[in-house]
Amino acid sequence: MSLIVQKFGGSSVANAERVFNVADIVTSTYKEGNNVIVVVSAQGDTTDDLIEKAKEINPHASKREMDMLLATGEQISISLLAMAIEKLGYPVVSLTGWQAGMVTDSNYSNSRIRKINTERVMLELDKRNIVIVAGFQGINRYDDITTLGRGGSDTSAVALAAACHADLCEIYTDVDGVYTTDPRIVPDAKKLDEISYDEMLELASLGANVLHNRSVEMAKKYNVNLCVRSSLTRAKGTVVKEAVKVEGMLVRGVTKDNDVARISLCGIEDTPGKAFRIFSLLAKKNINVDIILQSIGRDNKKDISFTVAESHIDEALKIIEENKEIIGYETMSYTTKVSKVSIVGAGMVTNAGVAARMFEALYEAQINIHMIATSEIKVSVLIDEGYEAKAVKAIHDKFELA
Ligand code: ASP
Ligand code: MG
Repeated sequence: MSLIVQKFGGSSVANAERVFNVADIVTSTYKEGNNVIVVVSAQGDTTDDLIEKAKEINPHASKREMDMLLATGEQISISLLAMAIEKLGYPVVSLTGWQAGMVTDSNYSNSRIRKINTERVMLELDKRNIVIVAGFQGINRYDDITTLGRGGSDTSAVALAAACHADLCEIYTDVDGVYTTDPRIVPDAKKLDEISYDEMLELASLGANVLHNRSVEMAKKYNVNLCVRSSLTRAKGTVVKEAVKVEGMLVRGVTKDNDVARISLCGIEDTPGKAFRIFSLLAKKNINVDIILQSIGRDNKKDISFTVAESHIDEALKIIEENKEIIGYETMSYTTKVSKVSIVGAGMVTNAGVAARMFEALYEAQINIHMIATSEIKVSVLIDEGYEAKAVKAIHDKFELA
Protein backbone atom coordinates (compact mmCIF):
# COMPACT_ATOMS: atom_id res chain seq x y z
CA MET A 1 0.00 0.00 0.00
CA SER A 2 1.38 3.39 -1.00
CA LEU A 3 1.01 6.65 0.88
CA ILE A 4 0.23 9.57 -1.39
CA VAL A 5 0.02 13.23 -0.41
CA GLN A 6 -2.17 15.33 -2.71
CA LYS A 7 -2.24 19.10 -2.41
CA PHE A 8 -4.93 21.24 -4.01
CA GLY A 9 -4.54 24.99 -4.47
CA GLY A 10 -7.22 27.61 -3.99
CA SER A 11 -8.47 27.54 -7.59
CA SER A 12 -8.92 23.75 -7.42
CA VAL A 13 -11.44 24.11 -4.55
CA ALA A 14 -12.91 27.49 -5.52
CA ASN A 15 -16.57 26.37 -5.60
CA ALA A 16 -18.80 23.39 -4.84
CA GLU A 17 -18.30 21.83 -8.26
CA ARG A 18 -14.51 22.08 -7.95
CA VAL A 19 -14.65 20.65 -4.42
CA PHE A 20 -16.46 17.60 -5.78
CA ASN A 21 -13.90 17.34 -8.58
CA VAL A 22 -11.17 17.19 -5.93
CA ALA A 23 -13.18 14.70 -3.89
CA ASP A 24 -13.33 12.53 -7.00
CA ILE A 25 -9.55 12.65 -7.54
CA VAL A 26 -8.91 11.87 -3.88
CA THR A 27 -11.37 9.00 -3.60
CA SER A 28 -10.16 7.47 -6.88
CA THR A 29 -6.64 7.40 -5.46
CA TYR A 30 -7.98 5.91 -2.22
CA LYS A 31 -10.03 3.30 -4.09
CA GLU A 32 -6.90 2.08 -5.84
CA GLY A 33 -5.76 0.94 -2.40
CA ASN A 34 -3.57 3.88 -1.41
CA ASN A 35 -3.50 5.79 1.83
CA VAL A 36 -4.17 9.44 1.08
CA ILE A 37 -3.29 12.65 2.90
CA VAL A 38 -4.85 15.70 1.31
CA VAL A 39 -3.61 19.25 1.90
CA VAL A 40 -5.80 22.15 0.77
CA SER A 41 -5.49 25.91 0.43
CA ALA A 42 -8.19 28.47 1.03
CA GLN A 43 -10.87 28.66 -1.67
CA GLY A 44 -10.23 31.00 -4.61
CA ASP A 45 -9.37 34.53 -3.47
CA THR A 46 -10.32 33.92 0.15
CA THR A 47 -6.91 34.81 1.56
CA ASP A 48 -6.79 38.10 -0.39
CA ASP A 49 -10.33 38.90 0.71
CA LEU A 50 -9.44 38.28 4.34
CA ILE A 51 -6.44 40.60 4.02
CA GLU A 52 -8.74 43.31 2.63
CA LYS A 53 -11.14 42.77 5.53
CA ALA A 54 -8.31 43.22 7.98
CA LYS A 55 -7.19 46.43 6.30
CA GLU A 56 -10.66 47.93 6.78
CA ILE A 57 -10.31 47.42 10.51
CA ASN A 58 -6.61 48.04 11.04
CA PRO A 59 -4.05 48.39 8.25
CA HIS A 60 -1.25 47.89 10.80
CA ALA A 61 -2.68 44.83 12.50
CA SER A 62 -0.11 42.65 14.26
CA LYS A 63 1.16 39.64 12.39
CA ARG A 64 -0.15 37.37 15.11
CA GLU A 65 -3.71 38.53 14.58
CA MET A 66 -3.28 38.37 10.79
CA ASP A 67 -2.32 34.71 11.13
CA MET A 68 -5.32 34.08 13.34
CA LEU A 69 -7.52 35.53 10.60
CA LEU A 70 -5.85 34.04 7.51
CA ALA A 71 -5.78 30.52 8.93
CA THR A 72 -9.59 30.48 8.82
CA GLY A 73 -9.55 30.29 5.01
CA GLU A 74 -7.99 26.84 4.98
CA GLN A 75 -10.28 25.66 7.73
CA ILE A 76 -13.27 26.32 5.48
CA SER A 77 -11.71 24.27 2.67
CA ILE A 78 -10.84 21.21 4.76
CA SER A 79 -14.31 20.92 6.24
CA LEU A 80 -16.09 21.41 2.90
CA LEU A 81 -13.88 18.86 1.18
CA ALA A 82 -14.43 16.40 4.03
CA MET A 83 -18.20 16.87 3.68
CA ALA A 84 -17.99 16.19 -0.06
CA ILE A 85 -16.01 13.00 0.56
CA GLU A 86 -18.47 11.93 3.26
CA LYS A 87 -21.24 12.39 0.75
CA LEU A 88 -19.44 10.09 -1.69
CA GLY A 89 -19.41 7.52 1.08
CA TYR A 90 -15.75 7.33 2.06
CA PRO A 91 -14.23 7.53 5.57
CA VAL A 92 -12.61 10.92 6.05
CA VAL A 93 -11.39 13.28 8.75
CA SER A 94 -10.28 16.91 8.47
CA LEU A 95 -7.52 18.33 10.67
CA THR A 96 -6.28 21.87 11.27
CA GLY A 97 -2.54 22.52 11.18
CA TRP A 98 -2.21 22.10 14.92
CA GLN A 99 -4.29 18.92 15.01
CA ALA A 100 -1.96 17.54 12.37
CA GLY A 101 1.04 18.36 14.56
CA MET A 102 2.56 21.13 12.42
CA VAL A 103 4.93 22.90 14.78
CA THR A 104 6.51 26.11 13.47
CA ASP A 105 8.76 28.86 14.75
CA SER A 106 7.20 32.13 15.90
CA ASN A 107 7.94 34.26 12.87
CA TYR A 108 4.26 35.11 12.39
CA SER A 109 3.06 35.39 8.77
CA ASN A 110 6.21 33.74 7.46
CA SER A 111 6.91 30.84 9.81
CA ARG A 112 9.09 27.88 9.14
CA ILE A 113 8.08 24.36 10.05
CA ARG A 114 10.21 23.10 12.95
CA LYS A 115 8.83 19.58 13.21
CA ILE A 116 5.69 17.59 12.56
CA ASN A 117 4.21 15.34 15.22
CA THR A 118 2.65 12.78 12.93
CA GLU A 119 0.92 10.53 15.52
CA ARG A 120 -2.59 11.78 14.87
CA VAL A 121 -2.26 11.66 11.08
CA MET A 122 -0.77 8.16 11.24
CA LEU A 123 -3.49 6.98 13.59
CA GLU A 124 -6.17 8.19 11.18
CA LEU A 125 -4.42 6.53 8.23
CA ASP A 126 -4.26 3.28 10.18
CA LYS A 127 -8.04 3.50 10.50
CA ARG A 128 -8.08 3.81 6.69
CA ASN A 129 -9.41 7.35 6.87
CA ILE A 130 -8.68 9.84 4.15
CA VAL A 131 -6.90 12.59 6.09
CA ILE A 132 -7.44 16.19 5.06
CA VAL A 133 -5.04 18.73 6.50
CA ALA A 134 -5.27 22.52 6.39
CA GLY A 135 -2.33 23.90 4.47
CA PHE A 136 -0.43 27.11 5.20
CA GLN A 137 -0.93 26.95 8.98
CA GLY A 138 0.80 25.64 12.05
CA ILE A 139 1.22 26.27 15.71
CA ASN A 140 4.18 27.67 17.63
CA ARG A 141 5.45 26.83 21.09
CA TYR A 142 3.12 29.35 22.67
CA ASP A 143 0.16 27.47 21.14
CA ASP A 144 -0.47 30.40 18.80
CA ILE A 145 -1.60 29.87 15.22
CA THR A 146 1.05 30.75 12.64
CA THR A 147 1.11 30.80 8.84
CA LEU A 148 3.89 29.85 6.46
CA GLY A 149 3.79 32.82 4.07
CA ARG A 150 1.74 33.29 0.91
CA GLY A 151 1.56 30.11 -1.13
CA GLY A 152 2.71 28.12 1.90
CA SER A 153 0.31 25.19 1.47
CA ASP A 154 2.76 23.61 -0.96
CA THR A 155 5.27 23.55 1.86
CA SER A 156 2.74 22.02 4.26
CA ALA A 157 2.18 19.22 1.73
CA VAL A 158 5.85 18.48 1.07
CA ALA A 159 6.66 18.64 4.78
CA LEU A 160 3.90 16.13 5.55
CA ALA A 161 5.11 13.91 2.72
CA ALA A 162 8.63 13.99 4.17
CA ALA A 163 7.55 13.46 7.79
CA CYS A 164 5.15 10.60 6.96
CA HIS A 165 7.57 9.04 4.43
CA ALA A 166 5.02 9.28 1.65
CA ASP A 167 5.79 7.57 -1.63
CA LEU A 168 4.63 10.54 -3.68
CA CYS A 169 3.59 14.15 -3.25
CA GLU A 170 1.31 15.53 -5.96
CA ILE A 171 0.73 19.27 -6.17
CA TYR A 172 -2.51 19.89 -8.07
CA THR A 173 -3.07 23.35 -9.47
CA ASP A 174 -4.84 25.08 -12.35
CA VAL A 175 -1.94 24.70 -14.80
CA ASP A 176 -0.82 21.31 -16.01
CA GLY A 177 2.79 21.59 -14.93
CA VAL A 178 5.90 23.74 -14.95
CA TYR A 179 6.41 25.74 -18.14
CA THR A 180 9.44 27.33 -19.79
CA THR A 181 7.75 30.61 -18.92
CA ASP A 182 4.32 31.95 -18.03
CA PRO A 183 2.01 30.81 -20.87
CA ARG A 184 -0.13 33.91 -20.31
CA ILE A 185 2.81 36.03 -21.52
CA VAL A 186 4.23 33.65 -24.09
CA PRO A 187 1.45 31.46 -25.49
CA ASP A 188 3.88 28.99 -27.08
CA ALA A 189 5.70 28.33 -23.80
CA LYS A 190 6.42 24.63 -23.40
CA LYS A 191 5.52 22.32 -20.57
CA LEU A 192 8.54 20.58 -19.03
CA ASP A 193 8.20 16.85 -18.33
CA GLU A 194 10.94 16.96 -15.73
CA ILE A 195 12.92 19.55 -13.84
CA SER A 196 15.62 19.26 -11.19
CA TYR A 197 15.09 20.42 -7.61
CA ASP A 198 17.77 23.08 -8.04
CA GLU A 199 16.27 24.51 -11.19
CA MET A 200 12.78 24.44 -9.72
CA LEU A 201 14.03 26.14 -6.57
CA GLU A 202 15.47 28.99 -8.63
CA LEU A 203 12.36 29.28 -10.79
CA ALA A 204 10.14 29.35 -7.72
CA SER A 205 12.33 31.93 -5.98
CA LEU A 206 12.54 34.10 -9.10
CA GLY A 207 8.83 34.56 -9.68
CA ALA A 208 7.42 31.40 -11.26
CA ASN A 209 4.26 31.15 -9.20
CA VAL A 210 3.77 27.44 -9.54
CA LEU A 211 5.42 26.22 -6.31
CA HIS A 212 6.29 27.84 -2.98
CA ASN A 213 10.09 27.99 -2.98
CA ARG A 214 10.41 26.51 0.49
CA SER A 215 8.44 23.47 -0.59
CA VAL A 216 11.09 22.77 -3.21
CA GLU A 217 13.89 23.32 -0.71
CA MET A 218 12.23 20.80 1.55
CA ALA A 219 11.57 18.30 -1.26
CA LYS A 220 15.27 18.41 -2.17
CA LYS A 221 16.42 18.05 1.41
CA TYR A 222 14.24 15.01 2.10
CA ASN A 223 14.24 13.64 -1.43
CA VAL A 224 10.47 13.80 -1.75
CA ASN A 225 9.01 12.47 -5.00
CA LEU A 226 7.26 15.57 -6.20
CA CYS A 227 5.08 16.33 -9.19
CA VAL A 228 2.99 19.27 -10.36
CA ARG A 229 -0.21 18.61 -12.30
CA SER A 230 -3.62 20.03 -13.11
CA SER A 231 -6.72 19.14 -11.10
CA LEU A 232 -8.81 20.09 -14.13
CA THR A 233 -7.18 18.10 -16.96
CA ARG A 234 -5.51 15.55 -14.64
CA ALA A 235 -2.74 15.28 -17.26
CA LYS A 236 0.65 13.85 -16.32
CA GLY A 237 2.31 17.11 -15.32
CA THR A 238 5.93 17.87 -14.41
CA VAL A 239 8.11 15.69 -12.20
CA VAL A 240 10.54 17.52 -9.91
CA LYS A 241 13.54 15.38 -9.02
CA GLU A 242 17.23 15.23 -8.28
CA ALA A 243 18.90 15.12 -11.68
CA VAL A 244 17.41 15.58 -15.08
CA LYS A 245 18.72 14.78 -18.52
CA VAL A 246 19.51 18.17 -19.97
CA GLU A 247 19.34 17.32 -23.70
CA GLY A 248 21.35 20.39 -24.64
CA MET A 249 18.73 22.62 -23.12
CA LEU A 250 20.85 25.25 -21.43
CA VAL A 251 18.00 27.41 -20.27
CA ARG A 252 15.00 25.69 -18.76
CA GLY A 253 12.86 28.64 -17.85
CA VAL A 254 12.41 32.41 -17.95
CA THR A 255 10.72 34.21 -15.07
CA LYS A 256 9.68 37.69 -14.09
CA ASP A 257 9.11 39.14 -10.67
CA ASN A 258 7.42 42.48 -10.05
CA ASP A 259 7.65 42.25 -6.29
CA VAL A 260 11.03 43.97 -6.34
CA ALA A 261 12.27 47.32 -5.10
CA ARG A 262 15.75 48.83 -5.33
CA ILE A 263 17.43 50.80 -2.57
CA SER A 264 20.63 52.79 -3.18
CA LEU A 265 22.91 54.13 -0.50
CA CYS A 266 25.41 56.69 -1.80
CA GLY A 267 28.53 58.12 -0.23
CA ILE A 268 29.35 55.29 2.12
CA GLU A 269 32.81 55.39 3.63
CA ASP A 270 35.05 52.93 1.74
CA THR A 271 36.20 50.87 4.73
CA PRO A 272 35.70 47.27 5.84
CA GLY A 273 32.48 46.38 7.66
CA LYS A 274 30.02 48.69 5.90
CA ALA A 275 28.25 46.03 3.86
CA PHE A 276 28.22 43.80 6.92
CA ARG A 277 26.42 46.50 8.90
CA ILE A 278 23.74 47.19 6.32
CA PHE A 279 22.91 43.61 5.58
CA SER A 280 23.06 42.31 9.13
CA LEU A 281 20.59 45.00 10.21
CA LEU A 282 18.21 43.84 7.49
CA ALA A 283 18.79 40.15 8.15
CA LYS A 284 17.92 40.63 11.82
CA LYS A 285 14.44 41.68 10.69
CA ASN A 286 14.18 38.77 8.26
CA ILE A 287 14.39 41.02 5.22
CA ASN A 288 15.85 39.12 2.31
CA VAL A 289 18.24 41.01 0.08
CA ASP A 290 18.61 39.81 -3.45
CA ILE A 291 20.79 41.52 -6.07
CA ILE A 292 23.63 43.56 -4.55
CA LEU A 293 25.80 45.98 -6.46
CA GLN A 294 28.72 47.89 -4.99
CA SER A 295 30.52 50.54 -6.99
CA ILE A 296 34.29 50.83 -7.12
CA GLY A 297 35.27 53.25 -4.40
CA ARG A 298 36.47 56.74 -5.29
CA ASP A 299 37.57 59.58 -2.98
CA ASN A 300 37.25 57.07 -0.17
CA LYS A 301 33.50 56.74 -0.82
CA LYS A 302 31.43 54.00 -2.39
CA ASP A 303 27.80 53.34 -3.29
CA ILE A 304 25.83 50.19 -2.55
CA SER A 305 22.54 49.32 -4.27
CA PHE A 306 20.45 46.27 -3.54
CA THR A 307 16.99 44.87 -4.07
CA VAL A 308 14.40 43.66 -1.58
CA ALA A 309 10.86 42.42 -2.02
CA GLU A 310 8.54 45.35 -2.66
CA SER A 311 6.43 44.15 0.24
CA HIS A 312 9.45 44.72 2.52
CA ILE A 313 10.35 48.19 1.29
CA ASP A 314 8.77 50.21 4.11
CA GLU A 315 10.38 48.09 6.77
CA ALA A 316 13.76 48.19 5.00
CA LEU A 317 13.71 51.98 4.55
CA LYS A 318 12.80 52.44 8.19
CA ILE A 319 15.71 50.32 9.37
CA ILE A 320 18.16 52.13 7.14
CA GLU A 321 16.93 55.58 8.14
CA GLU A 322 17.01 54.72 11.82
CA ASN A 323 20.59 53.53 11.46
CA LYS A 324 21.91 56.35 9.30
CA GLU A 325 24.66 57.19 11.80
CA ILE A 326 25.75 53.61 12.27
CA ILE A 327 25.85 52.79 8.55
CA GLY A 328 27.25 56.20 7.61
CA TYR A 329 25.86 57.04 4.16
CA GLU A 330 25.24 60.45 2.60
CA THR A 331 22.02 59.86 0.66
CA MET A 332 19.49 57.12 0.24
CA SER A 333 17.13 56.68 -2.69
CA TYR A 334 14.76 53.92 -3.71
CA THR A 335 12.34 52.89 -6.41
CA THR A 336 9.62 50.29 -6.66
CA LYS A 337 9.28 50.81 -10.42
CA VAL A 338 11.61 47.96 -11.28
CA SER A 339 11.16 44.30 -12.19
CA LYS A 340 13.45 41.33 -12.24
CA VAL A 341 13.70 38.99 -15.19
CA SER A 342 15.72 35.79 -14.87
CA ILE A 343 16.82 32.74 -16.80
CA VAL A 344 17.40 29.42 -15.04
CA GLY A 345 19.10 26.24 -16.18
CA ALA A 346 21.53 23.72 -14.77
CA GLY A 347 23.37 23.52 -18.10
CA MET A 348 24.56 27.12 -17.83
CA VAL A 349 27.56 26.52 -15.60
CA THR A 350 29.63 25.08 -18.37
CA ASN A 351 28.51 27.40 -21.14
CA ALA A 352 30.09 30.81 -21.49
CA GLY A 353 27.70 32.43 -23.93
CA VAL A 354 24.44 32.16 -22.03
CA ALA A 355 24.46 35.52 -20.25
CA ALA A 356 25.62 37.28 -23.42
CA ARG A 357 22.73 35.78 -25.36
CA MET A 358 20.26 36.99 -22.77
CA PHE A 359 21.73 40.50 -22.88
CA GLU A 360 21.60 40.42 -26.67
CA ALA A 361 17.88 39.64 -26.54
CA LEU A 362 17.35 42.60 -24.21
CA TYR A 363 19.47 44.88 -26.41
CA GLU A 364 17.47 43.90 -29.49
CA ALA A 365 14.27 44.66 -27.58
CA GLN A 366 15.84 47.99 -26.51
CA ILE A 367 15.46 47.21 -22.81
CA ASN A 368 17.94 48.78 -20.46
CA ILE A 369 19.57 46.71 -17.70
CA HIS A 370 20.06 48.34 -14.28
CA MET A 371 21.58 45.50 -12.30
CA ILE A 372 22.82 41.99 -13.02
CA ALA A 373 23.25 38.98 -10.75
CA THR A 374 24.50 35.55 -11.71
CA SER A 375 24.90 32.17 -10.08
CA GLU A 376 25.83 28.76 -11.44
CA ILE A 377 22.33 28.15 -12.68
CA LYS A 378 20.72 31.56 -13.15
CA VAL A 379 21.16 35.05 -14.54
CA SER A 380 18.89 37.83 -13.26
CA VAL A 381 18.59 41.38 -14.51
CA LEU A 382 16.78 44.34 -13.04
CA ILE A 383 14.87 46.40 -15.59
CA ASP A 384 12.23 49.15 -15.57
CA GLU A 385 8.78 48.01 -14.51
CA GLY A 386 6.43 47.61 -17.45
CA TYR A 387 8.98 46.01 -19.77
CA GLU A 388 9.05 42.60 -18.12
CA ALA A 389 6.60 40.86 -20.48
CA LYS A 390 8.47 42.17 -23.50
CA ALA A 391 11.76 41.05 -21.95
CA VAL A 392 10.49 37.58 -21.12
CA LYS A 393 9.19 37.13 -24.65
CA ALA A 394 12.42 38.34 -26.25
CA ILE A 395 14.56 36.04 -24.09
CA HIS A 396 12.24 33.07 -24.54
CA ASP A 397 12.47 33.55 -28.33
CA LYS A 398 16.24 34.03 -28.25
CA PHE A 399 16.79 30.71 -26.53
CA GLU A 400 14.21 29.03 -28.76
CA LEU A 401 12.37 27.55 -25.81
CA ALA A 402 9.05 27.21 -27.61
N1 ASP B 1 -4.10 30.48 1.15
C1 ASP B 1 -2.73 30.84 1.27
C2 ASP B 1 -2.37 31.90 0.25
O1 ASP B 1 -3.15 32.31 -0.54
C3 ASP B 1 -1.80 29.68 1.20
C4 ASP B 1 -1.78 28.96 -0.14
O2 ASP B 1 -2.64 29.17 -0.98
O3 ASP B 1 -0.87 28.17 -0.35
O4 ASP B 1 -1.25 32.35 0.24
MG1 MG C 1 0.27 28.31 -4.85
